[in-house]
Amino acid sequence: MSRTYLDYNATAPLRAEAREALVAALDIGNPSSVHEEGRKARALVETARADVAALVSAPAETVVFTSGGTEACNLALGLRQAPAGEIKRLMVSAIEHSAVLAAAEESVLPVELLPVTADGVVDMAALDAALQDETPALVCVMLANNETGTIQPIAEIAAKTRTHGSLLFCDAVQAAGKMPLDIFALGADALSLSGHKLGAPMGIGALVTHPAVVVPPQLLGGGQELGRRAGSENISGIAAFAAAAKAAMRDFNDFANLADLRDDMEAALLAVQPQTQIFGKHADRLANTSCFALGGLNSETLVMALDLAGVAVSAGSACSSGKVSRSHVLAAMGAETHISRGVVRVSLGWQSNREDTEKLVDEWSKLAGRALAAE
Ligand code: PLP
Repeated sequence: MSRTYLDYNATAPLRAEAREALVAALDIGNPSSVHEEGRKARALVETARADVAALVSAPAETVVFTSGGTEACNLALGLRQAPAGEIKRLMVSAIEHSAVLAAAEESVLPVELLPVTADGVVDMAALDAALQDETPALVCVMLANNETGTIQPIAEIAAKTRTHGSLLFCDAVQAAGKMPLDIFALGADALSLSGHKLGAPMGIGALVTHPAVVVPPQLLGGGQELGRRAGSENISGIAAFAAAAKAAMRDFNDFANLADLRDDMEAALLAVQPQTQIFGKHADRLANTSCFALGGLNSETLVMALDLAGVAVSAGSACSSGKVSRSHVLAAMGAETHISRGVVRVSLGWQSNREDTEKLVDEWSKLAGRALAAE
């Protein structure tokens, strides 16, 4: 049976360009070595750094390669104003990925949760109120949410944090490679990126920092990454990340066009079951993401049944054990439990087409009809 893969926000397929770059860089010297093999490896890393920096229109030297998005987010929580500014508290949006939420919980600093509206956008009045107390904060608000695709007004948030002498870390893992980004236009002090969300393999990511901030290293050892992250570089991952980044930038227009496919799919779902709830529908959203739910259904059962029918989607939030837990994102948006229990996330990408979304609608409709009839 042919498979229909509609889970790009979990991980995107490996791009041909990334595979080629990965294989070509598997047998190469150590960039810290002074000999020719080492110099070749160094040149590859530095070219790749510029290519990854271009994803967010940043200077190449502001990119610190990491083992992925999670490490980049963890590293970002140490962000400080250069040379030795102090951060006294963390403010974290309630819909952040666990890479930010769990790391914040472990911080020695006090943590405040920023609520979101029913559409999943940070509540600006709550942010204003929290910033009134001028204690310097590191504010963490993601660019695009992995479950709903909702895009946050980062430039507006950055302007507020700056006015109050605070810093802004923006987890851009889901947005990077899906739309043109500019760290200076966004006004963020740091952005986290992950290779496998845009067609590179898993295990490579980056933290991009504004030139005015510093990140104390978490991994100590050699002086790699200008002392910001020790450890011999994952050169093949870095090369693949750069190749995928270039391909993603080339494909921005095609990616934006996925919104038509997604919107038609949502219209078809609503035509079948008018009570279907689509999360973040009225907010600015990633073009590829749809998060929908119907009361009376069960996510886990739906995802498994769709998988058996050849369609790969997700339940929106899955922990590493593969078990579905209640989504903290939908809970923060005020979704009723009996509805969010039946949630499905569809995330499209460069190989998705109308046949795929029609198959999803078809299979989901059958399952929903059966489940509701059995109630
Ligand atoms: N941040 C967001 C918004 C994500 O969606 C993910 C992955 O799902 C991560 C961070 C973690 O990235 P990685 O899988 O590269 O560790």
